[in-house]
Amino acid sequence: MSDSNEPQANQTVTDVSVCIIGAGPVGATLACRLAREGIPVAIVDRAALPQMENPEFDGRAYAIAAGSKNLLEEAGVWEHLPQIACPIEDILVTDGRPGEPPSPMSLEFTREDASQPFGWMAEARALRVALNATLHNASNITVLAPADVTIARSEDGVTVRAKDGRVVHARLLIAADGRASRTRSQAGIPITKLPYGQSGIVCAITHEFPHDNGALEHFLPGGPFAQLPMTGTAEHPNLSAVVWSEKDATAQRLAALPDHAFKRELQRRIGDRLGEVTPVGRRWVYPLSAQYAQHYTATRLALTGDAAHGIHPIAGQGLNLGFRDVIVLSALLIEAHRKGEDPGSPALLTRYQRQCRPTNMLMFAATDALDRLFSNDNPVLRLARDVGIATVNRMPRLRKAFVRHAMGI
Ligand SMILES: Cc1cc2nc3c(=O)[nH]c(=O)nc-3n(C[C@H](O)[C@H](O)[C@H](O)COP(=O)(O)OP(=O)(O)OC[C@H]3O[C@@H](n4cnc5c(N)ncnc54)[C@H](O)[C@@H]3O)c2cc1C
Repeated sequence: MSDSNEPQANQTVTDVSVCIIGAGPVGATLACRLAREGIPVAIVDRAALPQMENPEFDGRAYAIAAGSKNLLEEAGVWEHLPQIACPIEDILVTDGRPGEPPSPMSLEFTREDASQPFGWMAEARALRVALNATLHNASNITVLAPADVTIARSEDGVTVRAKDGRVVHARLLIAADGRASRTRSQAGIPITKLPYGQSGIVCAITHEFPHDNGALEHFLPGGPFAQLPMTGTAEHPNLSAVVWSEKDATAQRLAALPDHAFKRELQRRIGDRLGEVTPVGRRWVYPLSAQYAQHYTATRLALTGDAAHGIHPIAGQGLNLGFRDVIVLSALLIEAHRKGEDPGSPALLTRYQRQCRPTNMLMFAATDALDRLFSNDNPVLRLARDVGIATVNRMPRLRKAFVRHAMGI
């Protein structure tokens, strides 16, 4: 981890407090949040940022919890969203089998359970446009993208060198380079991985009736099926996102069906609450697994977002968990900046790990248990979960506690 700090010919050298590897939603939001407080930041991505702004509607969307929305506002990103995110004001949780009506025992979270929406649905490409606009508006953010870099960390600081000669010196390195984080593996931080044998089919649908800002989480033997309300367009006024988990082979088979057959399978799962449904845009298939890093820090390094933890999308919380890392880490870094303290000190990194990892492990365990409990057709478990669903439904205080946790408030 040693490196020569002597500049060579054709080098541009930038000195910053924090260098972030990965300009995905987690890394880019952290950069914008820190820059707003006057902290000089560099951000590196192997891909070009405009390339991530897919101009076509592609059906992928994020459920953004209230705590995450506050963060995006504080980071100056929310105001750049090119369209209004759709509030989620009602969530219906049901259990059943494809082609059959859901079990009569359901759980419904309504407007009365919370003082504000449960979350907001934002298209992935809209968030990308907003992140890029905010990154490029900030004078104290140095963007290296596309860039292929080598990294050297020592007790004293971090040097990041791009192949084109650009060099960044920083006091702290943040890994935000996703699940297969090279920064994490180069630091020798081990991960524990749990495969699910499931894949998530992600697509958008139009429907006959308005969604009234309502979401559905329907538990089926192959895995959970979620319909999430989206802001309509002139072409598709009634629009929703679908995240649908199935065993790997089934997911591949279903996603490859012709439109009319895929539409029939969607309808068999969603029922008739939204009338006739029609798939629009692309279909995506993501193999699902969960993983967690054994620790979040090393010398002058902190892991964030999917580089630190990946969870089952059953509760739509993966990105929200990454945003919680950003909330904690940015608060610590802003405090250190105001006091003139070292942003990469072992004390700060210890506090970061202590404040984030236990909460993240709880969410990891909860989403893992939910998937194992619900993604099967065992009659005993079916009865247990139906009773559980009905019990929570009858207990308003417990319902509200669930809601507060999922909203990140
Ligand atoms: C089917 C599915 C549905 C989901 N739905 C939701 C949802 O509704 N709500 C929610 O909160 N979460 C959801 N998630 C989870 C969410 O997508 C992730 O948690 C989120 O994308 C993580 O963001 P990130 O910035 O940490 O990583 P990524 O989004 O993976 O970004 C990593 C970035 O690092 C860059 N990079 C990678 N390697 C390098 C390198 N060596 N050098 C430089 N740059 C590099 C990449 O180009 C990329 O830009 C879902 C996930 C799946 C699979």
